Amino acid sequence: MNIRLLGAHNCESQNSKLISLLIDDVLAIDVGGLTSSLSFEAQQKLKAILLTHQHYDHIRDIPAIAMNFFLHGATVNVYSIPPVYDALTTHLLNGTLYPNFLEEPQQSPAVKFTIIEPHKLVQIEGYSILTIPVKHNVPTVGYQIASPDGKTVFYTSDTGPDLADCWEHISPQLLITEVTGSDKYKEWAVQSGHLTPALLKQELINFRELKGYLPPVILVHMSPRLEKEIEVEIATVAQDLNSPITLGYEGMQLHL
Ligand SMILES: [Zn+2]
Ligand SMILES: [Zn+2]
Repeated sequence: MNIRLLGAHNCESQNSKLISLLIDDVLAIDVGGLTSSLSFEAQQKLKAILLTHQHYDHIRDIPAIAMNFFLHGATVNVYSIPPVYDALTTHLLNGTLYPNFLEEPQQSPAVKFTIIEPHKLVQIEGYSILTIPVKHNVPTVGYQIASPDGKTVFYTSDTGPDLADCWEHISPQLLITEVTGSDKYKEWAVQSGHLTPALLKQELINFRELKGYLPPVILVHMSPRLEKEIEVEIATVAQDLNSPITLGYEGMQLHL
């Protein structure tokens, strides 16, 4: 399994892109930085897009990829939970802000949306996908993705603390999770459903106690202006836990 971080941040600039992951060139998870990272040719190789929640930084490129597929006479397969479908149809692909590509063109709409249910194992393009709810301020799911050769990654998406329910159901070889702010923003993070280095540390301690191991951890969704502070604080957490925790970046390649 090859995982490429297309976008690894929660803010966009010339040097940072909104969150988006690409697995084996065919499976995208969240689309904040999807179309701006891929050639038209690479976009046409996409077999499925999984969305974790409705926030703008995670669904931003759905209208853009829909237009590109529409102009190719192709259909892009999108999977997520009902609130994400509602947000897309109400606010983005609503026929006012942009065409309703969920229904156009009539014969074969440019976007095919499939609802997936938490805690159900589904097969998508040869991958086994397990959808697990996490702790954010809108309904949000993380995805455990297992490739046909048995490699497994879990991406939490945006989440706050108290993940024991989530950890119970997963056993990944690699954990991709978020740290949005540094520790001085701990109170804000708890309120808004995000993690800081200290909050992540406790979740990883819980993971290790529950599962008996700790996979390598890659962090995404950092706030760029806090990244230096986050990096220093995470180095201490990694040292305390004696386990690798690495900040992700745009273009980072991970191999399982
Ligand atoms: Zn969010
Ligand atoms: Zn976000």
